[in-house]
Order: sequence, then C-alpha cells, then structure tokens
Amino acid sequence: MKRVLYRAVYGSRYDRVPWGQRLYVRPGERHVRQAQWRLRLRRAPVMTLADYRERTKLGELEEFVTCHLCGDSRQQPLFTPTGPKGRWSYQVVRCPSCGFLYRNPNIRPERLGDLYANNYSAFLTGKYAADRQRRYRLTMDAFHPVFADGAGRRLLDFGCGAGLFLELAEQRGFDAVGVDLSPDSVAEANRRLTRARAYHGTPEDVPEIAVGGFDVITLWSVLAHLPRPLDDFRCFRSLLAPGGVLMILTVNAASLQLKAFGAGWNGFTKNHLMFYSAETMPVLLRRTGFAGVAFAPFYGDTVEAGTTKLAEPLRRRLRRAVEASDGGNMLRALAFADEEAVDRWGGGLKVRRLPKHEG
Ligand SMILES: [Zn+2]
Repeated sequence: MKRVLYRAVYGSRYDRVPWGQRLYVRPGERHVRQAQWRLRLRRAPVMTLADYRERTKLGELEEFVTCHLCGDSRQQPLFTPTGPKGRWSYQVVRCPSCGFLYRNPNIRPERLGDLYANNYSAFLTGKYAADRQRRYRLTMDAFHPVFADGAGRRLLDFGCGAGLFLELAEQRGFDAVGVDLSPDSVAEANRRLTRARAYHGTPEDVPEIAVGGFDVITLWSVLAHLPRPLDDFRCFRSLLAPGGVLMILTVNAASLQLKAFGAGWNGFTKNHLMFYSAETMPVLLRRTGFAGVAFAPFYGDTVEAGTTKLAEPLRRRLRRAVEASDGGNMLRALAFADEEAVDRWGGGLKVRRLPKHEG
C-alpha cells in the first residue's frame, strides 16, 4: 500500500537515490520531518529519575544513569528500539536540558567486555569488510590532508576490531597500533597486519600505548559504544601529542532518518549506548580539553564513492539539503587537541573553537 502511494506521488523520479537519502531530495519532506520531531518532543513527558526508575525494568548488566554531558537527572523517554524477533531491546531517553540522547538503563562499564567476548569478529569479513574500508577511505578524504601521509607519525585506532582500518593506516605509512575489547577480533587483526599491532584491553593496559605521543587517534563507530565517554575522552586527550587530532565517526542523533523512522532508525543497533549530534559532541570535547572541532557532512557512502550515479541537479539538491539540515546520517568529526593542531590541520575546514572548560 505504501509502495503504491509512493509510486502515485513520486513516480520513478527518485528510484536511483539510495533509500536513506530520498528524504533529502523529496520536496518539502525534511521540513515535515522536522515538524514531526518537534511535535514528538512536545508530546513526550519529562519525568524525574525516581519516576522513571519505577516504570522501567533493569537488566542484569545494566544500571540507571543521568545525562553524561550536563548532569541533569530528568528523563524524557522517546524510543524503544527492538531487535529482530525481540532478541534485544532498550530504552532511549532525551535529556530535557541539553538534548543529549542516551540509552537508560545503560550497560555497566565493568560488564562491557561481556558484550564483545564472543565472535564479534565474525561480522567483519567479505562484503562488510569492503564496505567498511570504503567508508574509512571516504572519511579520510573528507579530512584531507590529515591521513594523506603517515610517514613518521603515530596513530592509535581505539576499538580497532579485526584491524580493517589499521590495515589502511599501515599502507599509508603510519606507525599504527590498536586496542579492542574483543580477543577474537584482536587475534584476527594481528593475522591481517604486517607492521601495525593490535592489543586486547584498554590503552592503560598496554605500555606502548600508555606513553602517549599520538599524532592521530581514530574512533570508527566506537563512540556510541562508550559507557563513560568523559573518562575515555580525557584519556584520548592525554594520549595526543601537541598538534594531534582525534577523528570520530558515529551515527548522527540529529539525523532526519532518526526523525523519520523513530525506533526503527539504523543508528539504534544492539550495542549502541549514546547518540551524539553536532550540538552535543562539542560539549563532550570541550569538557575534556579539546581546543576545536570540525564536521564533514555525510552524503551517503555510495553517492560519495560514485557507485550511485545521480543526475547533476539531483546530486546538487542532495548536497544542499544535507548541508542545510542535519549534516547526514553519520557524524564525521575532527577534534583538535590544541591551537597548534588547529593551525596545522584546520586550514580547509570550518573549525568551531571550544572555549576552555573550568573544572
Ligand atoms: Zn544533558
């Protein structure tokens, strides 16, 4: 029925546009989605943490939390994403003060290893691996020339999984290391790599990493998995050399797709805990001592790679709509450790300065 309606309204005009990008090019749709979102926020009740606890079940690995960014304990429940056949499910709330979206109850940090203990690397092969590496290349291009020449530079890939990015980093000449919580993935990474090394655990567990002095740290689809982002980002900041940068790729909580699909949004995956936007991520970076941040809009992997060929007017319309609305379904950010980093790498980018945080 939906399909018939769609045909009647749009014909075949947008058939070549990937599904996730169509809402950017259909006339007026993004304004409708924004209006729907405002309505949803007006309707969803805001409650105290005590009231929220009373009506919410707590799983064995879980704990109740307050807003990680501003500390407000009030809860505005918005979504209950649920996996296929109900295999998993969690609650997503919004902070009524700063707008941050997070899972509550959250996973207890000390139990995080349980999520990644078995077979996580099984997903990371074949077409999935090729698509991931394409995404890494496109993002590196978006922040050119940070990743152009790694010679003589140290790189840490935090949450390196099976080493798909470390492989590209070593090809570009970086002196690269990675850490991950999944022992299976780390073993797989070390089979794949020649010069770069992957380690099981956290940065503090590995002396070679704990000494710091990194020129680049990368977080590929990792930020949404971190239950204690402030602690982790303080650690990243301390591991960066003067002039160093932190590259982050994560799902965009301001995405029109989230506004359109709600609990069915593809950013609500099984192990995601927190959902950042271009509004909330700078708060995290400022509070952990970064000097600035720049975002690169995301137009969709196949569009950027040119495997989806769009007529020029349609392509222009997509770009304009992404830039004028949410910045795309993924958030791509480059965070600068200090002024030296802004001077060195901020040239072609729109850098947002982050005033020094007290305390
Ligand atoms: Zn907040």
